[in-house]
Amino acid sequence: MDGLEESLVVMRESFGRGKTRSAAWRKLQLNGILNLVGENEEMIFEALNEDLGKHPVEAYRDEVGVVKKSALHALESLDRWMAPKKAYIPLIFRPAKARVVPEPLGLVLIISSWNFPFSLSMDPLIGAIAAGNTAVVKPSESAPATSSLLAKLIPLYLDPEAIRVIEGGTDVSTRLLEKKWDKIFFTGSSRVGRIVMSAAAKHLTPVTLELGGKSPAIVDDLSNSDLEVAIKRIVSGKWGSCYGQVCLAVDYILVEERLAPLLIDRLKARLRKFYGSNSQDLKDISRVVNKHHFTRLCNLLKDPAVASSVVFGGSLDEDRLFIEPTILLNPPLDAEIMTEEIFGPLLPIVTLGNVQDSIEFINSRPKPLVLYAFTKDDSFKEQIVAQTSSGCVTFNDTCIQFVCEAIPFGGVGESGQGRYHGKYSFDAFSHEKGVLHRTFYLELEPRHPPLSDFKLKF
Ligand code: NAD
Repeated sequence: MDGLEESLVVMRESFGRGKTRSAAWRKLQLNGILNLVGENEEMIFEALNEDLGKHPVEAYRDEVGVVKKSALHALESLDRWMAPKKAYIPLIFRPAKARVVPEPLGLVLIISSWNFPFSLSMDPLIGAIAAGNTAVVKPSESAPATSSLLAKLIPLYLDPEAIRVIEGGTDVSTRLLEKKWDKIFFTGSSRVGRIVMSAAAKHLTPVTLELGGKSPAIVDDLSNSDLEVAIKRIVSGKWGSCYGQVCLAVDYILVEERLAPLLIDRLKARLRKFYGSNSQDLKDISRVVNKHHFTRLCNLLKDPAVASSVVFGGSLDEDRLFIEPTILLNPPLDAEIMTEEIFGPLLPIVTLGNVQDSIEFINSRPKPLVLYAFTKDDSFKEQIVAQTSSGCVTFNDTCIQFVCEAIPFGGVGESGQGRYHGKYSFDAFSHEKGVLHRTFYLELEPRHPPLSDFKLKF
Protein backbone atom coordinates (compact mmCIF):
# COMPACT_ATOMS: atom_id res chain seq x y z
CA MET A 1 0.00 0.00 0.00
CA ASP A 2 3.04 2.24 0.25
CA GLY A 3 2.89 4.61 -2.64
CA LEU A 4 -0.86 4.22 -3.18
CA GLU A 5 -1.36 7.96 -3.64
CA GLU A 6 1.46 8.20 -6.17
CA SER A 7 0.14 5.16 -8.05
CA LEU A 8 -3.27 6.72 -8.36
CA VAL A 9 -1.79 10.02 -9.54
CA VAL A 10 0.24 8.23 -12.25
CA MET A 11 -2.82 6.29 -13.41
CA ARG A 12 -5.08 9.34 -13.43
CA GLU A 13 -2.46 11.22 -15.47
CA SER A 14 -2.27 8.35 -17.96
CA PHE A 15 -6.02 8.46 -18.36
CA GLY A 16 -6.05 12.27 -18.56
CA ARG A 17 -3.45 12.20 -21.36
CA GLY A 18 -5.76 9.88 -23.29
CA LYS A 19 -3.16 7.11 -23.27
CA THR A 20 -5.67 4.31 -22.73
CA ARG A 21 -8.25 5.50 -25.25
CA SER A 22 -6.78 4.33 -28.54
CA ALA A 23 -7.76 0.97 -29.98
CA ALA A 24 -4.04 0.28 -30.44
CA TRP A 25 -3.30 0.61 -26.70
CA ARG A 26 -6.28 -1.56 -25.77
CA LYS A 27 -5.26 -4.27 -28.24
CA LEU A 28 -1.67 -4.20 -27.00
CA GLN A 29 -2.87 -4.83 -23.44
CA LEU A 30 -5.28 -7.59 -24.49
CA ASN A 31 -2.43 -9.26 -26.36
CA GLY A 32 -0.36 -8.76 -23.20
CA ILE A 33 -2.96 -10.76 -21.27
CA LEU A 34 -2.83 -13.55 -23.86
CA ASN A 35 0.98 -13.61 -23.58
CA LEU A 36 0.81 -13.55 -19.78
CA VAL A 37 -1.46 -16.58 -19.81
CA GLY A 38 0.33 -18.41 -22.64
CA GLU A 39 3.83 -18.03 -21.20
CA ASN A 40 2.98 -18.75 -17.56
CA GLU A 41 0.36 -21.46 -17.67
CA GLU A 42 2.36 -23.86 -15.50
CA MET A 43 2.96 -21.21 -12.81
CA ILE A 44 -0.74 -20.32 -12.79
CA PHE A 45 -1.65 -24.01 -12.39
CA GLU A 46 0.82 -24.30 -9.50
CA ALA A 47 -0.57 -21.24 -7.73
CA LEU A 48 -4.16 -22.48 -8.10
CA ASN A 49 -3.11 -25.87 -6.81
CA GLU A 50 -1.35 -24.33 -3.83
CA ASP A 51 -4.31 -22.09 -2.95
CA LEU A 52 -7.19 -24.48 -3.64
CA GLY A 53 -5.84 -27.89 -4.67
CA LYS A 54 -7.22 -27.37 -8.19
CA HIS A 55 -6.31 -30.05 -10.70
CA PRO A 56 -4.68 -28.53 -13.83
CA VAL A 57 -7.68 -29.63 -15.94
CA GLU A 58 -10.05 -27.81 -13.59
CA ALA A 59 -7.67 -24.83 -13.48
CA TYR A 60 -7.60 -24.67 -17.27
CA ARG A 61 -11.34 -25.22 -17.73
CA ASP A 62 -12.47 -22.73 -15.07
CA GLU A 63 -9.72 -20.11 -15.05
CA VAL A 64 -6.92 -20.07 -17.63
CA GLY A 65 -9.14 -21.13 -20.54
CA VAL A 66 -11.86 -18.69 -19.51
CA VAL A 67 -9.41 -15.78 -19.50
CA LYS A 68 -7.88 -16.76 -22.85
CA LYS A 69 -11.30 -17.09 -24.46
CA SER A 70 -12.46 -13.80 -23.02
CA ALA A 71 -9.32 -11.86 -24.11
CA LEU A 72 -9.50 -13.33 -27.62
CA HIS A 73 -13.19 -12.49 -27.92
CA ALA A 74 -12.51 -8.90 -26.79
CA LEU A 75 -9.64 -8.55 -29.27
CA GLU A 76 -11.74 -9.84 -32.15
CA SER A 77 -14.74 -7.69 -31.25
CA LEU A 78 -13.05 -4.49 -30.08
CA ASP A 79 -13.39 -2.40 -33.25
CA ARG A 80 -17.09 -3.22 -33.42
CA TRP A 81 -17.66 -2.48 -29.73
CA MET A 82 -15.82 0.85 -29.96
CA ALA A 83 -17.64 2.04 -33.07
CA PRO A 84 -20.23 4.79 -32.44
CA LYS A 85 -23.80 3.68 -33.13
CA LYS A 86 -26.19 5.79 -35.19
CA ALA A 87 -29.25 7.03 -33.28
CA TYR A 88 -32.68 7.95 -34.61
CA ILE A 89 -33.72 11.62 -34.51
CA PRO A 90 -37.44 12.56 -34.59
CA LEU A 91 -38.50 14.28 -37.80
CA ILE A 92 -39.32 17.48 -35.98
CA PHE A 93 -35.63 18.13 -35.09
CA ARG A 94 -34.19 17.38 -38.51
CA PRO A 95 -31.96 18.13 -40.27
CA ALA A 96 -29.78 16.60 -37.58
CA LYS A 97 -27.84 13.45 -36.84
CA ALA A 98 -26.96 11.62 -33.66
CA ARG A 99 -24.64 8.88 -32.44
CA VAL A 100 -24.11 6.97 -29.24
CA VAL A 101 -20.40 7.02 -28.45
CA PRO A 102 -18.95 4.66 -25.82
CA GLU A 103 -16.37 6.38 -23.65
CA PRO A 104 -14.18 4.95 -20.88
CA LEU A 105 -15.10 5.81 -17.31
CA GLY A 106 -11.58 6.57 -16.01
CA LEU A 107 -9.83 4.88 -13.10
CA VAL A 108 -11.58 1.73 -11.95
CA LEU A 109 -11.16 -0.59 -8.97
CA ILE A 110 -11.60 -4.36 -9.31
CA ILE A 111 -11.91 -6.35 -6.06
CA SER A 112 -12.12 -10.11 -6.46
CA SER A 113 -12.84 -13.25 -4.46
CA TRP A 114 -10.69 -16.34 -3.83
CA ASN A 115 -12.64 -19.18 -5.46
CA PHE A 116 -11.55 -18.37 -9.02
CA PRO A 117 -8.74 -16.08 -7.95
CA PHE A 118 -7.14 -15.86 -11.40
CA SER A 119 -10.15 -15.54 -13.69
CA LEU A 120 -12.24 -13.33 -11.41
CA SER A 121 -9.36 -10.81 -11.33
CA MET A 122 -8.45 -11.04 -15.02
CA ASP A 123 -11.88 -11.33 -16.63
CA PRO A 124 -13.22 -7.99 -15.34
CA LEU A 125 -9.81 -6.47 -16.15
CA ILE A 126 -10.31 -7.52 -19.79
CA GLY A 127 -13.56 -5.54 -19.82
CA ALA A 128 -11.92 -2.53 -18.15
CA ILE A 129 -9.06 -2.52 -20.69
CA ALA A 130 -11.31 -3.12 -23.70
CA ALA A 131 -13.36 -0.10 -22.66
CA GLY A 132 -10.19 2.04 -22.36
CA ASN A 133 -9.88 2.50 -18.59
CA THR A 134 -6.99 2.47 -16.17
CA ALA A 135 -7.46 -0.13 -13.43
CA VAL A 136 -6.34 -1.26 -9.99
CA VAL A 137 -6.87 -4.95 -9.27
CA LYS A 138 -7.15 -6.12 -5.64
CA PRO A 139 -7.09 -9.93 -5.60
CA SER A 140 -8.25 -11.94 -2.61
CA GLU A 141 -5.87 -12.47 0.29
CA SER A 142 -7.42 -15.91 0.80
CA ALA A 143 -5.70 -17.16 -2.37
CA PRO A 144 -2.23 -15.75 -1.57
CA ALA A 145 -0.21 -17.71 -4.15
CA THR A 146 -2.41 -16.52 -7.02
CA SER A 147 -2.56 -12.99 -5.63
CA SER A 148 1.23 -12.73 -5.48
CA LEU A 149 1.61 -14.30 -8.94
CA LEU A 150 -0.77 -11.67 -10.37
CA ALA A 151 1.23 -8.93 -8.62
CA LYS A 152 4.42 -10.31 -10.16
CA LEU A 153 3.18 -10.97 -13.71
CA ILE A 154 0.85 -8.07 -14.46
CA PRO A 155 3.59 -5.38 -14.39
CA LEU A 156 5.68 -7.53 -16.77
CA TYR A 157 2.95 -7.84 -19.40
CA LEU A 158 0.66 -4.82 -19.01
CA ASP A 159 1.26 -1.07 -19.01
CA PRO A 160 2.32 -0.19 -15.43
CA GLU A 161 1.26 3.42 -15.93
CA ALA A 162 -2.33 2.25 -16.35
CA ILE A 163 -2.80 -1.14 -14.69
CA ARG A 164 -1.63 -2.08 -11.23
CA VAL A 165 -2.19 -4.82 -8.68
CA ILE A 166 -2.52 -3.95 -5.01
CA GLU A 167 -2.45 -6.96 -2.69
CA GLY A 168 -3.96 -7.25 0.75
CA GLY A 169 -6.95 -8.06 2.89
CA THR A 170 -9.80 -6.13 4.49
CA ASP A 171 -7.54 -3.28 5.72
CA VAL A 172 -6.23 -2.68 2.19
CA SER A 173 -9.72 -2.96 0.66
CA THR A 174 -11.02 -0.48 3.22
CA ARG A 175 -8.30 2.03 2.34
CA LEU A 176 -8.90 1.56 -1.36
CA LEU A 177 -12.64 2.07 -0.90
CA GLU A 178 -12.02 5.45 0.76
CA LYS A 179 -10.58 6.74 -2.54
CA LYS A 180 -12.59 8.18 -5.36
CA TRP A 181 -12.98 5.76 -8.28
CA ASP A 182 -14.87 6.08 -11.53
CA LYS A 183 -16.23 2.55 -11.16
CA ILE A 184 -15.95 -0.26 -8.63
CA PHE A 185 -16.34 -3.83 -9.86
CA PHE A 186 -16.70 -6.14 -6.87
CA THR A 187 -16.92 -9.95 -6.77
CA GLY A 188 -17.64 -11.39 -3.34
CA SER A 189 -20.23 -11.86 -0.65
CA SER A 190 -23.46 -9.90 -0.25
CA ARG A 191 -22.21 -8.79 3.21
CA VAL A 192 -19.12 -7.08 1.76
CA GLY A 193 -21.13 -5.98 -1.29
CA ARG A 194 -23.14 -3.76 1.06
CA ILE A 195 -19.91 -2.24 2.44
CA VAL A 196 -18.63 -1.60 -1.09
CA MET A 197 -21.88 0.02 -2.16
CA SER A 198 -22.03 2.37 0.79
CA ALA A 199 -18.38 3.40 0.30
CA ALA A 200 -19.12 4.03 -3.40
CA ALA A 201 -22.18 6.10 -2.55
CA LYS A 202 -19.98 8.76 -0.87
CA HIS A 203 -18.49 9.59 -4.27
CA LEU A 204 -21.53 8.61 -6.36
CA THR A 205 -19.31 5.95 -7.92
CA PRO A 206 -21.17 3.37 -10.02
CA VAL A 207 -20.76 -0.25 -8.95
CA THR A 208 -21.09 -3.71 -10.40
CA LEU A 209 -21.70 -6.21 -7.62
CA GLU A 210 -21.14 -9.85 -8.54
CA LEU A 211 -22.48 -11.55 -5.42
CA GLY A 212 -23.74 -14.98 -4.47
CA GLY A 213 -26.80 -16.52 -2.89
CA LYS A 214 -28.70 -19.76 -2.91
CA SER A 215 -29.09 -21.08 -6.46
CA PRO A 216 -31.74 -23.85 -6.57
CA ALA A 217 -31.99 -26.72 -9.04
CA ILE A 218 -35.47 -28.05 -9.77
CA VAL A 219 -35.44 -31.70 -10.85
CA ASP A 220 -38.60 -32.79 -12.65
CA ASP A 221 -39.75 -36.34 -13.38
CA LEU A 222 -37.27 -37.52 -16.04
CA SER A 223 -36.66 -40.71 -17.99
CA ASN A 224 -33.84 -42.94 -16.76
CA SER A 225 -31.40 -41.76 -19.38
CA ASP A 226 -32.24 -38.07 -18.99
CA LEU A 227 -31.94 -38.37 -15.23
CA GLU A 228 -28.50 -39.91 -15.66
CA VAL A 229 -27.33 -36.91 -17.71
CA ALA A 230 -28.91 -34.50 -15.22
CA ILE A 231 -27.16 -36.24 -12.32
CA LYS A 232 -23.75 -36.03 -14.04
CA ARG A 233 -24.22 -32.31 -14.63
CA ILE A 234 -25.43 -31.65 -11.09
CA VAL A 235 -22.56 -33.61 -9.51
CA SER A 236 -19.99 -31.92 -11.74
CA GLY A 237 -21.51 -28.50 -11.14
CA LYS A 238 -21.72 -29.01 -7.39
CA TRP A 239 -18.52 -30.84 -6.44
CA GLY A 240 -16.41 -30.72 -9.59
CA SER A 241 -15.66 -27.02 -9.63
CA CYS A 242 -13.76 -25.65 -6.60
CA TYR A 243 -15.57 -28.29 -4.49
CA GLY A 244 -18.83 -26.36 -4.37
CA GLN A 245 -17.19 -23.05 -3.44
CA VAL A 246 -18.72 -21.44 -6.48
CA CYS A 247 -21.24 -18.61 -6.68
CA LEU A 248 -23.18 -20.46 -9.36
CA ALA A 249 -23.00 -23.96 -7.85
CA VAL A 250 -26.30 -25.70 -7.17
CA ASP A 251 -27.04 -24.70 -3.58
CA TYR A 252 -29.99 -27.04 -3.05
CA ILE A 253 -32.34 -29.29 -5.04
CA LEU A 254 -36.13 -29.12 -5.23
CA VAL A 255 -37.83 -32.37 -6.19
CA GLU A 256 -41.16 -34.13 -5.74
CA GLU A 257 -41.19 -36.32 -2.62
CA ARG A 258 -41.89 -39.51 -4.58
CA LEU A 259 -38.76 -38.98 -6.73
CA ALA A 260 -36.31 -38.18 -3.92
CA PRO A 261 -35.15 -41.78 -3.11
CA LEU A 262 -34.18 -42.43 -6.75
CA LEU A 263 -32.47 -39.04 -7.03
CA ILE A 264 -30.41 -39.71 -3.89
CA ASP A 265 -29.39 -43.19 -5.07
CA ARG A 266 -28.25 -41.82 -8.41
CA LEU A 267 -26.33 -38.94 -6.81
CA LYS A 268 -24.49 -41.35 -4.50
CA ALA A 269 -23.63 -43.71 -7.36
CA ARG A 270 -22.37 -40.88 -9.54
CA LEU A 271 -20.27 -39.39 -6.75
CA ARG A 272 -18.55 -42.77 -6.31
CA LYS A 273 -18.02 -43.12 -10.08
CA PHE A 274 -16.53 -39.64 -10.41
CA TYR A 275 -14.41 -39.41 -7.29
CA GLY A 276 -13.91 -42.99 -6.02
CA SER A 277 -15.35 -44.88 -3.08
CA ASN A 278 -12.71 -44.00 -0.54
CA SER A 279 -14.37 -41.03 1.16
CA GLN A 280 -11.11 -40.01 2.85
CA ASP A 281 -9.11 -39.85 -0.33
CA LEU A 282 -11.19 -38.58 -3.21
CA LYS A 283 -9.53 -38.08 -6.59
CA ASP A 284 -9.30 -34.89 -8.63
CA ILE A 285 -11.20 -32.66 -6.26
CA SER A 286 -10.35 -29.17 -4.97
CA ARG A 287 -10.26 -28.54 -1.25
CA VAL A 288 -11.98 -26.26 1.23
CA VAL A 289 -10.00 -23.05 1.05
CA ASN A 290 -9.07 -22.48 4.71
CA LYS A 291 -9.85 -23.14 8.36
CA HIS A 292 -12.35 -20.29 8.54
CA HIS A 293 -14.49 -21.75 5.76
CA PHE A 294 -14.03 -25.32 7.08
CA THR A 295 -15.41 -24.21 10.46
CA ARG A 296 -18.22 -22.24 8.82
CA LEU A 297 -19.29 -25.34 6.86
CA CYS A 298 -18.98 -27.63 9.91
CA ASN A 299 -21.20 -25.24 11.86
CA LEU A 300 -23.90 -25.60 9.19
CA LEU A 301 -24.03 -29.31 10.05
CA LYS A 302 -23.93 -28.92 13.85
CA ASP A 303 -27.62 -28.25 14.43
CA PRO A 304 -28.98 -31.70 15.53
CA ALA A 305 -32.00 -31.39 13.22
CA VAL A 306 -29.64 -30.73 10.31
CA ALA A 307 -27.21 -33.49 11.32
CA SER A 308 -30.04 -36.01 11.39
CA SER A 309 -31.03 -35.06 7.84
CA VAL A 310 -27.69 -36.23 6.39
CA VAL A 311 -28.31 -39.16 4.05
CA PHE A 312 -24.85 -39.41 2.54
CA GLY A 313 -21.35 -38.34 3.61
CA GLY A 314 -20.99 -35.93 6.47
CA SER A 315 -17.55 -36.97 7.72
CA LEU A 316 -15.15 -34.19 8.63
CA ASP A 317 -11.36 -34.14 8.98
CA GLU A 318 -10.11 -30.97 10.59
CA ASP A 319 -6.41 -31.70 10.04
CA ARG A 320 -6.88 -31.94 6.27
CA LEU A 321 -9.73 -29.41 6.20
CA PHE A 322 -11.69 -32.16 4.46
CA ILE A 323 -15.45 -32.44 4.32
CA GLU A 324 -16.92 -35.41 2.56
CA PRO A 325 -19.42 -34.70 -0.24
CA THR A 326 -22.63 -34.57 1.78
CA ILE A 327 -26.30 -34.91 0.83
CA LEU A 328 -29.07 -33.89 3.21
CA LEU A 329 -32.77 -34.65 2.91
CA ASN A 330 -35.21 -32.02 4.14
CA PRO A 331 -33.11 -30.13 6.67
CA PRO A 332 -35.27 -27.58 8.58
CA LEU A 333 -36.04 -24.65 6.29
CA ASP A 334 -35.19 -22.14 9.00
CA ALA A 335 -31.75 -23.69 9.68
CA GLU A 336 -28.71 -21.71 8.49
CA ILE A 337 -27.97 -24.31 5.82
CA MET A 338 -31.28 -23.33 4.18
CA THR A 339 -31.10 -19.58 4.78
CA GLU A 340 -27.41 -18.81 4.00
CA GLU A 341 -25.40 -19.51 0.86
CA ILE A 342 -23.64 -22.87 1.45
CA PHE A 343 -20.56 -22.29 -0.73
CA GLY A 344 -19.16 -25.76 -0.14
CA PRO A 345 -19.67 -29.52 -0.68
CA LEU A 346 -23.03 -29.87 1.13
CA LEU A 347 -26.19 -30.45 -0.93
CA PRO A 348 -29.63 -30.26 0.70
CA ILE A 349 -32.60 -31.80 -1.10
CA VAL A 350 -35.98 -30.28 -0.34
CA THR A 351 -39.05 -32.29 -1.27
CA LEU A 352 -42.36 -30.87 -2.49
CA GLY A 353 -45.76 -32.40 -3.15
CA ASN A 354 -45.74 -31.13 -6.71
CA VAL A 355 -42.86 -29.79 -8.79
CA GLN A 356 -45.00 -26.73 -9.68
CA ASP A 357 -44.70 -25.69 -6.01
CA SER A 358 -41.01 -24.96 -6.61
CA ILE A 359 -41.95 -21.62 -8.18
CA GLU A 360 -43.64 -20.43 -4.99
CA PHE A 361 -40.77 -21.82 -2.91
CA ILE A 362 -38.19 -19.88 -4.92
CA ASN A 363 -40.27 -16.71 -4.95
CA SER A 364 -40.54 -16.75 -1.15
CA ARG A 365 -36.74 -16.36 -0.88
CA PRO A 366 -34.13 -13.81 -2.03
CA LYS A 367 -33.61 -13.74 -5.79
CA PRO A 368 -30.94 -16.32 -6.72
CA LEU A 369 -27.93 -15.76 -8.95
CA VAL A 370 -28.93 -18.76 -11.08
CA LEU A 371 -32.05 -20.86 -11.27
CA TYR A 372 -31.43 -24.33 -12.65
CA ALA A 373 -34.21 -26.63 -13.79
CA PHE A 374 -33.97 -30.11 -15.25
CA THR A 375 -37.18 -30.64 -17.16
CA LYS A 376 -38.49 -31.43 -20.63
CA ASP A 377 -41.84 -29.76 -20.00
CA ASP A 378 -41.88 -26.64 -22.18
CA SER A 379 -44.85 -25.00 -20.49
CA PHE A 380 -43.17 -25.47 -17.07
CA LYS A 381 -40.02 -23.89 -18.52
CA GLU A 382 -42.04 -20.89 -19.69
CA GLN A 383 -43.70 -20.60 -16.30
CA ILE A 384 -40.29 -20.62 -14.59
CA VAL A 385 -38.94 -17.87 -16.83
CA ALA A 386 -42.08 -15.74 -16.58
CA GLN A 387 -42.93 -16.20 -12.90
CA THR A 388 -39.54 -16.13 -11.12
CA SER A 389 -36.66 -13.68 -10.93
CA SER A 390 -32.98 -14.67 -10.90
CA GLY A 391 -29.66 -13.52 -12.40
CA CYS A 392 -30.17 -16.15 -15.09
CA VAL A 393 -31.99 -19.40 -15.77
CA THR A 394 -30.29 -22.52 -17.12
CA PHE A 395 -32.32 -25.52 -18.21
CA ASN A 396 -30.85 -29.02 -18.13
CA ASP A 397 -27.25 -28.11 -17.31
CA THR A 398 -25.15 -26.36 -14.67
CA CYS A 399 -22.57 -23.56 -14.83
CA ILE A 400 -22.06 -23.46 -18.63
CA GLN A 401 -23.91 -20.14 -18.92
CA PHE A 402 -20.82 -18.57 -17.30
CA VAL A 403 -18.70 -19.22 -20.37
CA CYS A 404 -21.18 -18.11 -23.03
CA GLU A 405 -20.14 -14.56 -23.94
CA ALA A 406 -23.48 -13.69 -25.50
CA ILE A 407 -25.28 -14.26 -22.17
CA PRO A 408 -25.00 -11.48 -19.57
CA PHE A 409 -23.66 -12.76 -16.27
CA GLY A 410 -24.79 -11.04 -13.08
CA GLY A 411 -27.24 -11.18 -10.25
CA VAL A 412 -30.45 -9.41 -9.35
CA GLY A 413 -31.62 -8.22 -5.94
CA GLU A 414 -29.48 -9.81 -3.22
CA SER A 415 -27.45 -11.79 -5.76
CA GLY A 416 -25.97 -8.65 -7.25
CA GLN A 417 -26.35 -5.84 -9.72
CA GLY A 418 -24.81 -5.13 -13.10
CA ARG A 419 -23.59 -7.76 -15.50
CA TYR A 420 -20.54 -8.67 -17.55
CA HIS A 421 -18.94 -11.07 -20.04
CA GLY A 422 -18.39 -10.40 -23.74
CA LYS A 423 -19.86 -7.09 -24.87
CA TYR A 424 -21.56 -6.75 -21.48
CA SER A 425 -18.08 -6.40 -19.91
CA PHE A 426 -17.24 -3.60 -22.33
CA ASP A 427 -20.54 -1.90 -21.45
CA ALA A 428 -19.95 -2.37 -17.71
CA PHE A 429 -16.84 -0.19 -17.95
CA SER A 430 -18.14 2.34 -20.51
CA HIS A 431 -20.40 5.36 -20.49
CA GLU A 432 -22.67 5.56 -23.52
CA LYS A 433 -22.55 9.20 -24.49
CA GLY A 434 -25.27 10.61 -26.69
CA VAL A 435 -23.91 13.05 -29.27
CA LEU A 436 -26.38 15.12 -31.31
CA HIS A 437 -25.49 17.42 -34.21
CA ARG A 438 -28.00 19.99 -35.50
CA THR A 439 -27.73 22.39 -38.35
CA PHE A 440 -28.85 26.02 -38.22
CA TYR A 441 -31.82 25.46 -40.56
CA LEU A 442 -35.52 25.16 -39.92
CA GLU A 443 -36.27 26.84 -36.63
CA LEU A 444 -39.30 25.49 -34.76
CA GLU A 445 -40.53 28.85 -33.47
CA PRO A 446 -43.37 27.70 -31.15
CA ARG A 447 -40.85 26.16 -28.72
CA HIS A 448 -39.52 29.64 -27.86
CA PRO A 449 -41.13 32.40 -25.73
CA PRO A 450 -43.39 34.16 -25.53
CA LEU A 451 -45.46 31.12 -24.50
CA SER A 452 -49.20 31.34 -24.99
CA ASP A 453 -52.27 29.10 -24.71
CA PHE A 454 -52.54 29.33 -28.42
CA LYS A 455 -49.29 27.34 -28.81
CA LEU A 456 -50.80 24.43 -26.83
CA LYS A 457 -53.04 23.79 -29.80
CA PHE A 458 -50.03 22.71 -31.90
P1 NAD B 1 -15.71 -11.72 0.47
O1 NAD B 1 -16.84 -10.79 0.28
O2 NAD B 1 -15.36 -12.15 1.83
O3 NAD B 1 -14.36 -11.10 -0.14
C1 NAD B 1 -14.30 -10.59 -1.46
C2 NAD B 1 -13.25 -9.49 -1.53
O4 NAD B 1 -13.63 -8.44 -0.64
C3 NAD B 1 -11.84 -9.94 -1.12
O5 NAD B 1 -10.91 -9.38 -2.03
C4 NAD B 1 -11.67 -9.34 0.27
O6 NAD B 1 -10.35 -8.94 0.56
C5 NAD B 1 -12.56 -8.11 0.23
N1 NAD B 1 -13.14 -7.79 1.54
C6 NAD B 1 -13.45 -8.68 2.55
N2 NAD B 1 -13.98 -8.02 3.60
C7 NAD B 1 -14.00 -6.71 3.27
C8 NAD B 1 -14.43 -5.53 3.95
N3 NAD B 1 -14.93 -5.58 5.17
N4 NAD B 1 -14.31 -4.35 3.32
C9 NAD B 1 -13.81 -4.30 2.05
N5 NAD B 1 -13.37 -5.38 1.36
C10 NAD B 1 -13.46 -6.57 1.97
O7 NAD B 1 -16.02 -12.96 -0.48
P2 NAD B 1 -15.17 -14.26 -0.71
O8 NAD B 1 -15.20 -15.10 0.53
O9 NAD B 1 -13.85 -13.91 -1.32
O10 NAD B 1 -16.02 -14.96 -1.86
C11 NAD B 1 -17.17 -15.69 -1.59
C12 NAD B 1 -18.42 -14.94 -2.01
O11 NAD B 1 -18.27 -14.40 -3.30
C13 NAD B 1 -19.63 -15.86 -2.10
O12 NAD B 1 -20.75 -15.20 -1.57
C14 NAD B 1 -19.80 -16.06 -3.60
O13 NAD B 1 -21.11 -16.40 -3.98
C15 NAD B 1 -19.36 -14.75 -4.13
N6 NAD B 1 -18.89 -14.89 -5.50
C16 NAD B 1 -19.64 -14.35 -6.49
C17 NAD B 1 -19.24 -14.49 -7.82
C18 NAD B 1 -20.03 -13.92 -8.95
O14 NAD B 1 -19.49 -13.82 -10.05
N7 NAD B 1 -21.28 -13.53 -8.75
C19 NAD B 1 -18.06 -15.18 -8.10
C20 NAD B 1 -17.33 -15.71 -7.06
C21 NAD B 1 -17.74 -15.56 -5.76
